[in-house]
Amino acid sequence: MPLLTIERLNVTFATRQGRVKAVKNISMSISNQEKLALIGETGCGKSIVAQSILRLLPKNAQINGRILFQGRDLLLVDEKTMASIRGKEIAIIFQNPSLALNPVYTIGWQVGEPFRIHQGANRNQSIQESIRLLSYMRFDKPGSAVKMYPYEFSGGMNQRALIATALALHPKLIIADEPTQGLDRTLIKQIIEQLDRARKIHSSSMMLITHDLTVAQSISDWIMVMYAGEIVEQARTRDFFQSPLHPYSQGLLGSLPKNGFHPIPGQSPSMIENLQGCQFHPRCKWAKEQCLNDKPELLSLNRRLVRCFLYG
Ligand code: SF4
Repeated sequence: MPLLTIERLNVTFATRQGRVKAVKNISMSISNQEKLALIGETGCGKSIVAQSILRLLPKNAQINGRILFQGRDLLLVDEKTMASIRGKEIAIIFQNPSLALNPVYTIGWQVGEPFRIHQGANRNQSIQESIRLLSYMRFDKPGSAVKMYPYEFSGGMNQRALIATALALHPKLIIADEPTQGLDRTLIKQIIEQLDRARKIHSSSMMLITHDLTVAQSISDWIMVMYAGEIVEQARTRDFFQSPLHPYSQGLLGSLPKNGFHPIPGQSPSMIENLQGCQFHPRCKWAKEQCLNDKPELLSLNRRLVRCFLYG
């Protein structure tokens, strides 16, 4: 049985401008110790999937479908059960460490929080655990680091502290939402190496949410591509980077500097208006009459999935 299975997930938001359809009929699964990268442009719905899993969506969200974690539907369990799963069974690393960390508490207090919440540790015990975790994340002087505040750390140090917090209780699933955003290439490499090393030791599975294809390629087993709230392609990472099938995926790879830096023309469609046909058709050089009128289904092709009429 997969660790996590998402079935027909739909998320909409009621706004003054209308109903925003952020996630449309998404299904996926992650097995034990598997690493899946969810990629796509900003605003395509990737982070909404992560927030749905942990039930962290704002009140104006309407959600339906099933999110099965170890066989239990997270959308049906009570809030007390959900609170016991968050941070313990499923941990999340948020994209902006300076916002995710509270500026008025020390790093030690915040890294030790899971031990106080889930294991009833007292202040001293939680600080000792923080020192252990920070040393594990290769902080030079963890005993001094726990007494410091987030503003005294660099962005990379804050992110490593957040990773330490996420891994504190050996979660079965780690959701890393843009964990390297805003960091330079050298730091990105370090953070990804440390995250993967820690994940391996705890035998955790991982859902990595990123718009950075290089990061996705370096760490994931599977790639799932989202566009305008939909899955448009899924493949083994090696297959995806060797031969992306969907025209959007091809565009993403073509926009990498090493591939000539050719940006995809146009913009993603509005999530409020109902665009008929394939959601990518206004930007697709292969679009034909059928693409403007009909919606392509996800097709299965040699252990890959693709949503495009070119493969029908
Ligand atoms: Fe392009 Fe048509 Fe495929 Fe959509 S269905 S990606 S418009 S070829």
